[in-house]
Amino acid sequence: MKIAAFDVREDERADFAAASERTGAAVELHAEPLTAANAELARGAAGVSVLGHSQLDANLLETLHGMGVDVAATRTIGVNHIDMDAARRLGMAILNADYAPNGVAEYTVMFMLLVLRNYKPALWRGQVYDFSLEGLQGREMRNLTIGVMGTGRIGRTVIRILTGFGCRILAYDPYPNPEVAKTAEYVDIDTLYAESDLITLHMPLITEGPHANVHIINRDTIARMKDGVVLINCARGELMDLEALIDNIEAKKIGGLGLDTVETEEELIHRDRRTDILTNRGIAYLRQFPNVVMTQHMAFYTDAAVTSMVDHSVEGIKAVTETGEYRTRLV
Ligand code: NAD
Repeated sequence: MKIAAFDVREDERADFAAASERTGAAVELHAEPLTAANAELARGAAGVSVLGHSQLDANLLETLHGMGVDVAATRTIGVNHIDMDAARRLGMAILNADYAPNGVAEYTVMFMLLVLRNYKPALWRGQVYDFSLEGLQGREMRNLTIGVMGTGRIGRTVIRILTGFGCRILAYDPYPNPEVAKTAEYVDIDTLYAESDLITLHMPLITEGPHANVHIINRDTIARMKDGVVLINCARGELMDLEALIDNIEAKKIGGLGLDTVETEEELIHRDRRTDILTNRGIAYLRQFPNVVMTQHMAFYTDAAVTSMVDHSVEGIKAVTETGEYRTRLV
């Protein structure tokens, strides 16, 4: 069985080799994203394995389907780069990743502490032997109300970690979880906005339909939050309106931001753009503030997670091809 893997990073190659040996699948590795221009590379494969740089839109899915490639596994949790409706219509199987939520949850809590303790300006100062304290006073978690939006696998792991800090934890999710309700207080979204000192997002990006949540954090919702609110986004950039974030940092309505993912990040993340002339003014402007910590969509990036991402994509394509079933199959 042939599997064509795209978007393959150097650090994934050893895991792909191990998964190939274990499953007997011949996995062909391609560093570039899967596009209409190189889709021929997938011909003869039982399925394709991709990351978020591969935009599996309706046209590309039709091309794959036309050459008999009816399984696509993304090595990501988020599937907003895949046209799921088109996949359903074509009868294709789409699988996502399955890895422990701990890596993203730990990163989220690290971001909370970095922002609350003014770590970014402290780091800047230390590098030029400025060891002054002025302006670096932080806040303690035990005195804060933390609002968690989305209490799925990552959100509830964040809540579990937070219980050790002694903060008050508010939660909002359209589908409350009884286990989470033992340690966090489910409230309506307006209460969460009004009472949280820090709000962290852990829901999928939904671009269409009644549950669409693009720019759920916008000028209006920020206005309903506490002055000096800290916002953390380790979910998806488009959940937050970038221009509204900039304006509210300038107005000091937002007291700090921890963004592992930011709107319009696609052309930047996971690439070395040091010598390029970048035109993304929003990100360039936002990242210069001392109270804004931004990273390159790397909350997931641990040794354990990468191994799981690769393993499940190879094993999933093999299982779906042979039996039609795998636990990460979404459609
Ligand atoms: P999950 O499916 O287990 O949980 C998502 C939760 O969000 C569900 O409980 C759902 O009911 C809830 N939800 C949906 N819409 C909501 C809304 N409008 N408001 C509040 N809650 C809502 O997903 P997960 O594994 O916890 O992952 C969450 C998201 O984190 C993913 O969809 C992905 O976009 C993001 N993520 C980011 C990284 C990274 O490296 N930064 C890595 C993995 C996942």
